Amino acid sequence: MSILETTIINLKAKGYRITRQREAIIGLVLHSKAPLSVKIIRKMLAEKQIKSDKATVYRNLELLTSENIINNISKDDPISKFESSKDHHHHLICTNCNRVEHIETETIEAEIRKQEKVLSGKYKFTFTGHSLNLYGHCGKCRN
Ligand SMILES: [Zn+2]
Ligand SMILES: [Zn+2]
Ligand SMILES: [Zn+2]
Repeated sequence: MSILETTIINLKAKGYRITRQREAIIGLVLHSKAPLSVKIIRKMLAEKQIKSDKATVYRNLELLTSENIINNISKDDPISKFESSKDHHHHLICTNCNRVEHIETETIEAEIRKQEKVLSGKYKFTFTGHSLNLYGHCGKCRN
């Protein structure tokens, strides 16, 4: 079974209605290599002859985010971008052209785990996850 099929079966089991638009959005975000903005998602829906308005697309994305199927990787940025939450990783985000690069971060993960141990003792805090974006200028915008 594909990840799209599994996701839809899980949502149905939870009592969610699967509209054509909802199914299409899940497919688009889960299969995209690059994180997608609402604007791009609406454009891709239009290409599939699926009508959408901003509010419904947002509602769908919020639902999928709360179900932990996708992540909004740029909550603090002016343009939200969504991607599959399947593989945990971090991002380089260009503040000039908004380009997003996924990065391998084994060293960062090891360091964060180490820090979590220290911090959980110090602040009596239980860690459930983290997100990390690094901002700057990409190769194209650098010059
Ligand atoms: Zn750039
Ligand atoms: Zn990513
Ligand atoms: Zn991480």
